[in-house]
Amino acid sequence: MAHLHRPEQKQPEADLTRVYDAIVVGSGAAGGMAAHALTARGLQVLLLEAGKKLDIESELKSMEWPYDHTRRGLMPPDRHAISFNEYTIRQPPYAKDSPYAKVHSYVQGWGGSDYSKNIVVDEKEHPYTGTGYAWVRARCLGGKTNIWGRLALRLSDYDFKAKTHDGYGEDWPISYADLAPYYDKVDLYLGIAGVKENLPHLPDSIFQRPTRLNPAEVKVRNSLLRSGRVLTPYRAGVTTDGLKHNKYRSRCFGRGACSRRSGGCDIHAAFDSPTGLIYPANDTGRLSMRTNATVREVTVDPDTGKARGVAFLDSETGQSYEARAKVVVIAASTLESARILLLSKSRQHPNGIGNSSGHVGHNFCEHVMGPGARGFVKELVGKPRTLDDGRPGSFYIPRFRNLKDRHPKFIRGYGFEGGSGTGMVPGDSVESPGFGASYKKKVRDEAGAYIDMGGFGEVLARYENHVDLDPAVKDRWGIPVLRFHYKFGDNEKAMCEDMAESAKELLEEAGIEVVHVNKRVLTEGWSIHELGTARMGNDPRTSVLNQHQQSHDVKNLFVVDGSSHVSASCQNPTWTIMALCWRSSDYLADELGRGNL
Ligand SMILES: Cc1cc2nc3c(=O)[nH]c(=O)nc-3n(C[C@H](O)[C@H](O)[C@H](O)COP(=O)(O)OP(=O)(O)OC[C@H]3O[C@@H](n4cnc5c(N)ncnc54)[C@H](O)[C@@H]3O)c2cc1C
Ligand code: SF4
Repeated sequence: MAHLHRPEQKQPEADLTRVYDAIVVGSGAAGGMAAHALTARGLQVLLLEAGKKLDIESELKSMEWPYDHTRRGLMPPDRHAISFNEYTIRQPPYAKDSPYAKVHSYVQGWGGSDYSKNIVVDEKEHPYTGTGYAWVRARCLGGKTNIWGRLALRLSDYDFKAKTHDGYGEDWPISYADLAPYYDKVDLYLGIAGVKENLPHLPDSIFQRPTRLNPAEVKVRNSLLRSGRVLTPYRAGVTTDGLKHNKYRSRCFGRGACSRRSGGCDIHAAFDSPTGLIYPANDTGRLSMRTNATVREVTVDPDTGKARGVAFLDSETGQSYEARAKVVVIAASTLESARILLLSKSRQHPNGIGNSSGHVGHNFCEHVMGPGARGFVKELVGKPRTLDDGRPGSFYIPRFRNLKDRHPKFIRGYGFEGGSGTGMVPGDSVESPGFGASYKKKVRDEAGAYIDMGGFGEVLARYENHVDLDPAVKDRWGIPVLRFHYKFGDNEKAMCEDMAESAKELLEEAGIEVVHVNKRVLTEGWSIHELGTARMGNDPRTSVLNQHQQSHDVKNLFVVDGSSHVSASCQNPTWTIMALCWRSSDYLADELGRGNL
C-alpha cells in the first residue's frame, strides 16, 4: 500500500528525426541528475534507459509484512541468487549452465528478495567474464537508486588531494572548494538527514532532522569521543522534513521498510532518481524519454570526429535506431559506461571513443568490505523493545586511520557502517541454539542488546585493475560483454586485518562484550561502489576526462558517473556522483550556449 498519490506523468515521445541539445544515456543517480540539471538550464534532453519503467510502488510493497506474502517474501523457486561461496569458487559467467530459469546477483538473496527481482538484472541475459566479481546491476528507470542503501557522504580534500597527502596515485583535478556548492545544491534539492560533526575528513551536509541513536549507539559514541573518533547517526539520503518543491516524494515516516529489505521506499522519502530528478525534469516540458533503449555505441560525425548521437537497440524487439544530439552524456554506471566507450570504435577513435590515452576501463577501484565485529550490551537485556529498524539507517563511524598519523601497514582508510537494537528478526535469534519457551524468552530478552558494524575501505586505483571487451562472449542483444581483470592487493588485505581488530577494540573500549569478530573479506564487487574506469585529470595522456567530466578527445562527449572518479576514497559515492554531475552539467550548458561544443 503506497501512502502517496503519484501525479500522472505525461511523457513526450522520443523524436528520432530531431537533433536534441543533449542525449543522456542511463537514468540512475548520474543520468537522473544530468536530466534534471540540463533541463533546468533550458536544454532539450532525450533520456535513453535500457531497462523498463516499472510501477515501483507495487514492486516494492514497502508495507507488506512477510506473513502477507505467499513465500514469506522469498523469490519464486525457479530463481537463484548467487552466493558468497559461488563467487569465491567459480569464475564468471556465473549463470552459465545454471538449472534455474533466472539467476541474480547476491543482493537478490537478502530478506524479502521477491521485491527487487524485477529491478536487478538476470545474469543469464547479462553475462560477463574474467576474474571473479560480484557485479550488482539494476536495469530499470532509476537504476540502482531504487534499492540503494541511502548512506550519503561527502568526500574531502583528504580524498581529492590524497596523492599530496601520501604520495600514492593521482590527485583529482578539483578540490573540495570546487564541489562544495554543488554538494549543497544536492542536499537542498534531494534532502539528507544527519548531524553536523565539523570533521575535516567528512564534511557536513545541510542536514534535515537526523535519525536518533539508540542506547547502545550512544554508548559507543560517548566512548569514541574520548579518543577523538566519532560515531554519527547514519547520513541518510532521505528527506525527513519533506521537500516543498517536490510533489512526488513524502517525508520519512520511519517505517523501516528500507532497512528490512534490500532497500527501496514506496513513498520515496529515500531518494530515488525517478521521483527525485526525472519526474521533476519531465515537468519542465523539456525532457523526452525512451525506456527499453539499450545504447550500443556513440556514433561519430565522420568529418569532425565529434559525437553525432548514439546507436541503440529496442531492448524488447532488438530493432536498431539512432538518436542524434549536439552533446552526448554517458551515465550508464561506471562499468557500463566504460563498455559503451570501448564499443564505440570508429576510424577516428580506433581504441574506442575518448580512449586515446588507453585509460578507459583502467584504474578501476571500489570499496573492500566485510571485516567487523558484533557486541552484546548486557545492561540492555530484558529492556522494553524499541522500533530500531524503523529508521532509514543506524550509524556511521567515519575514517580515523591515516589522517594525522601514518599506519605502518597500509595507506588510506575505512569507515564502519553499523546498526543495533531491535529488528524485525531480533538480535541473535537465527544463530541462537534452543527451542520452546526458554528460547523465546532468550530471544525476547536479548532482542535489543546487540550492536554490529562492518568496514568499507578504499581500494587503491591501479592501472592493472581493469575491464576490457570479451572477444567472444556476447549478451542477449549480441553486444560484446565486459571481461574483468581485477583483484584486491596487499594494501586492501592489510587494511582488512586492521578493520577487524579496530572494530573489536572500539567495542571493548566502550565496555561492550565482543561476541564475534568477523575477519572474512567479502569478494571483489560486494560493495556495489565501482568507480574509476574513465578517470578525470589534467593530463590527456593519463586521464580520459577533464575536471568537468568532458572527454579530452571529443569535446561534445561527457561521462558523468562514478567512472570519472580518480580514487575511491572510503565514503559511499552516490552523493559525490550527483554533485559532480550537476557541476559538469552547468559547465556543459554554459559551453553549449557559447557555441564551444
Ligand atoms: C543494494 C545497494 C545498496 C547501495 N547502497 C549505497 C549507499 O548506501 N550509498 C551510496 O552512496 N551508494 C550505494 N549504492 C550504490 C548506488 O546505488 C550507486 O552509486 C548509484 O546508483 C550509481 O548511479 P549511476 O547512475 O552511476 O548507476 P545506476 O544507478 O546503476 O544507473 C545506471 C542506469 O543506466 C542504465 N544503463 C546501463 N547500460 C545502459 C545502456 N547501454 N543503455 C542505456 N541505459 C543503460 C541502467 O539500466 C541503469 O538504469 C548501493 C547500491 C545497491 C544496489
Ligand atoms: S524508513 Fe523512511 S525512507 Fe525508509 S522506507 Fe520507511 S519512510 Fe521510506
